[in-house]
Amino acid sequence: MPELYTTHGAMRRDQLGFILPHEHIFVDLRPLGTPGHGQAEAADVARLMAPQLAAFKAQGGTALVECTPEGVGRRVDLVKAAADAANLPVVVPTGIYRQPWVPDWALEASQDFLYDWMRKELEVEIGQSGVRAGFIKLSAGDDGLTAPEEKILRAAVCAARKSNALIASHTIRARVVEQQIAVMEEEGFNLERFVWVHAQVDTLETNLVLAKHGLWIEYDGINGSEEGDAEYIRRIQAMVEAGHEDQVLLSMDRGWYTPAEPGGGTPQPFTMLAEVFLPTLRAAGFSEAMIEKFTAANPFNAFAR
Ligand SMILES: [Zn+2]
Repeated sequence: MPELYTTHGAMRRDQLGFILPHEHIFVDLRPLGTPGHGQAEAADVARLMAPQLAAFKAQGGTALVECTPEGVGRRVDLVKAAADAANLPVVVPTGIYRQPWVPDWALEASQDFLYDWMRKELEVEIGQSGVRAGFIKLSAGDDGLTAPEEKILRAAVCAARKSNALIASHTIRARVVEQQIAVMEEEGFNLERFVWVHAQVDTLETNLVLAKHGLWIEYDGINGSEEGDAEYIRRIQAMVEAGHEDQVLLSMDRGWYTPAEPGGGTPQPFTMLAEVFLPTLRAAGFSEAMIEKFTAANPFNAFAR
C-alpha cells in the first residue's frame, strides 16, 4: 500500500486529506558561500513558521510538501522543528537545485555517488534526522540542462526507479522539460513519476502537449489575484477537457523563513488557496469531487510510494 513519507513518519491515504504539494518553510536563494547561508536557529524558524502551518491545519490541511532541495537552504532539522511545533506532517525532499546553486561536493561527485546518496535519503533517512526523504526535487537551467544538472537527473532517475519515488523539477521552459524527458526516456523512467514544477510559466499549449507523456502538471503560483485565478481556471478546465484531471497539482509556492532578513522576514500564508482559490473554482462550476481530487487524491498519488 502506498505511503507518504513525512516528518511524522509514513502515512496512508486514509490518514490524509488536503495536501499542499509545493510550499516552503525555509529557503536561502543567496549565492552559495554567502556568509550565514542556510543558517538559522530552529527555535526562530519554528516561532515564525509553526503558526503558518497551524493556520493551514486549522483549515483542514493534513500535510504540506516542502520543496527546498540542496543548494538553496535545505534544512530538514529546521523544517522538522516547525512541523513538530505545529503538529503538521511535512514532506521533505532529497535532490539538488540547478546551477549556480549546485554545491561543490555535488559538482565533483560521480553519478553513482549521487545515486547512493539520494537512495539512502529515500530509503533510510536524511543525515541523522530520523526523517526519510519523501521525493526528489531538482531543477534545470532556463536555457537547457548543464552537464552537472544532467548528471544529477540521471542519478535521480536511477534512485527514483529503485525507490519508486517521484521526481519534481523546477523547470521554467517547456523545451527544457523536453530535454529532461529525453534523458528520462533514455533511462527507461516512467514519466508518470515526474512533476513539471512551475508549468504555469510556459503556455497552456505546451502544458497540454507534454501532459500526453503522463507527467504531472503543477500549477503552483496561485496567488489569489483576480487575473491570475482566471488564467489558472482556464488552464485547469483545459486539462480536464483533455482528460488530464488526474495529473493536475495545485499549490502556491509560498512561505518561508528567509535567513537573509531579520527574524526571517514576513512569510506569505499557506491559507490563501482554501480561502480564496477553492471558492473561485467552485464558482466556476468544478464539483466537490473534482476539488477533492486536485487537493487530496492527486497530491497523495503523486508523492506517495
Ligand atoms: Zn518553490
